[in-house]
Amino acid sequence: MTVTEPAPPPSATAANGAPGPGPDGADDPDARIGPDAGPDATDGGEGGGRRHVKVAIVGAGFAGLAMAIRLKQAGVDDFVVFERGDDVGGTWRDNTYPGAACDVPSHLYSFSFAPNPRWSRSFSPQGEILDYLRDTARRHGVMPHIRLGTPVTAMRWVDEARVWRVHTPDGGVTAQFLVPGMGALSEPKLPDIPGIDGFEGAFFHSAAWEHDHDLTGESVAVIGTGASSIQFVPEIQPQVGSLHVFQRTPPWIIPRTDRPLTAAEHRLFRVLPAAQRFVRAAIYWGRELYAWGFIKPQRMRAPQRLARAHLEHQVTDPGLRAKLTPEYTMGCKRILISNDWYPTLARPNVEVVTDRISEIRPRSIVAADGTERPVDTIICGTGFHVTDFPAGDHIHGPGGASLSDVWNDRGSMEAYLGTTVAGFPNLFLLVGPNTGLGHTSMVFMIESQVGYVLDALRHVDSAGATTVEVRPEVQDAYNRDLQRQLATTVWNAGGCRSWYLDANGRNTSLWPGFSWRFRQRARRFDPWSYVLRHEPAHPEAAGPGARVLD
Ligand code: NAP
Repeated sequence: MTVTEPAPPPSATAANGAPGPGPDGADDPDARIGPDAGPDATDGGEGGGRRHVKVAIVGAGFAGLAMAIRLKQAGVDDFVVFERGDDVGGTWRDNTYPGAACDVPSHLYSFSFAPNPRWSRSFSPQGEILDYLRDTARRHGVMPHIRLGTPVTAMRWVDEARVWRVHTPDGGVTAQFLVPGMGALSEPKLPDIPGIDGFEGAFFHSAAWEHDHDLTGESVAVIGTGASSIQFVPEIQPQVGSLHVFQRTPPWIIPRTDRPLTAAEHRLFRVLPAAQRFVRAAIYWGRELYAWGFIKPQRMRAPQRLARAHLEHQVTDPGLRAKLTPEYTMGCKRILISNDWYPTLARPNVEVVTDRISEIRPRSIVAADGTERPVDTIICGTGFHVTDFPAGDHIHGPGGASLSDVWNDRGSMEAYLGTTVAGFPNLFLLVGPNTGLGHTSMVFMIESQVGYVLDALRHVDSAGATTVEVRPEVQDAYNRDLQRQLATTVWNAGGCRSWYLDANGRNTSLWPGFSWRFRQRARRFDPWSYVLRHEPAHPEAAGPGARVLD
């Protein structure tokens, strides 16, 4: 066995990469990967029909598409993208609830390498973002690499062959590198309430909206008052007969500064792309100011005053106002933006119920105070499985233990730069642990990670190595530091319980602060943090007929 012991970093500055991060893509997108990389490097171009590929990507949302496009730009055609849905788009394909839109401005919530001068509004609706992703995938030539309607059932590292075996119903592939990009908000979470399975009316989650179900005149219960509910409740309120909104914790809400973009702006961005880049940069740095508040909760007093004024302006009834006033520090949960949430809750056919739900009966909901409310339909805006990372059950490292097993043993999810995990060679997670943000565009984090992965692949190739694995002590030190930084932030110390925290109260979701700092950390692959091995891979030993670890 040959193990490369890379030299230590020349200096801390170099380890952190060069300065000058910004809202645009990681550097050097055109640097090619591998000695034989190039459009003609593979037998047939796209990895779509291949049995062994260099890179297997799972998921065709923002993360998977970014990885695919940047690989293609780097001259790698030998990759495949597995997508369980029948279209690209990830969360923007699945979340079709009425009013679904992004709460990060579109100029920033988009790929740096694919600006769209035609956004119709400052905060784009779901359908437009989905169209943008479809169009971007097509224009960058990655569609032939994507196997739609192909769920990945397991991903197993085959140690004797030194490849990942990706199982799908049609057999799957082996791959040198595995890049799961399944998103953190892809598995809807339903509440665990006694009697819920016996409900006989319509019942669905916001991420699986039943558009065929007509809500007209119905008595509807909505459980949850998070980012999704505050968008669809104002849309359905005029249509339903009565609306019972079950609120466990009131969100902090600030005005939504949405507006249509003008024809003049469209023209300007088309003829002068630098103008759009300037607007993007201004939005980016403006939003970074939030992080300044999040890392020191006492700095949130001024924004809290703005949010209180918004509530007081929109809700005159003191009883309702009291129900809607949060008792934790703003930012502890995601800050929501809306101009119509409060007015909707004040409508005569709407009731905000703050008593806990004690039971769901076949045609009603019973609250803790004993009040029973007959309902025809229950809509759950109850969020997603995040800190339990369901995809981890399907990723098996050497020896067969799953990522979930490893993380359960450790007590929490952990990775290095949210991307690599000790004990899992050649695995690069996108949107992994502690890469989430409470204040700005996740696309920025995704592009930072993708740049890091590309640099890692380049390094492995140029070192003539076959596997790369982060050193456990590096991962441990990184996470100790991360948790130390998180301890005093608003997310940990703001007095709320959010999906950012796992069952142990550990924040395994968020990056602690300014997103440019993540870009800086991930700017260059840091080989001294890794072990590289050089034994040749034997993909044929892990083919469909070969023994795989069970
Ligand atoms: P969420 O923010 O996690 O909100 C879930 C809501 O359900 C919370 O109000 C929660 O109450 C409540 N809830 C959960 N379990 C409950 C139970 N057993 N009984 C009563 N209430 C319960 O979920 P989401 O609204 O789907 O949003 C999830 C994330 O998706 C957001 O934070 C955001 O990152 C993303 N998102 C983004 C956009 C966008 O515009 N970019 C739009 C939608 C969603 P507690 O607060 O008390 O836990």
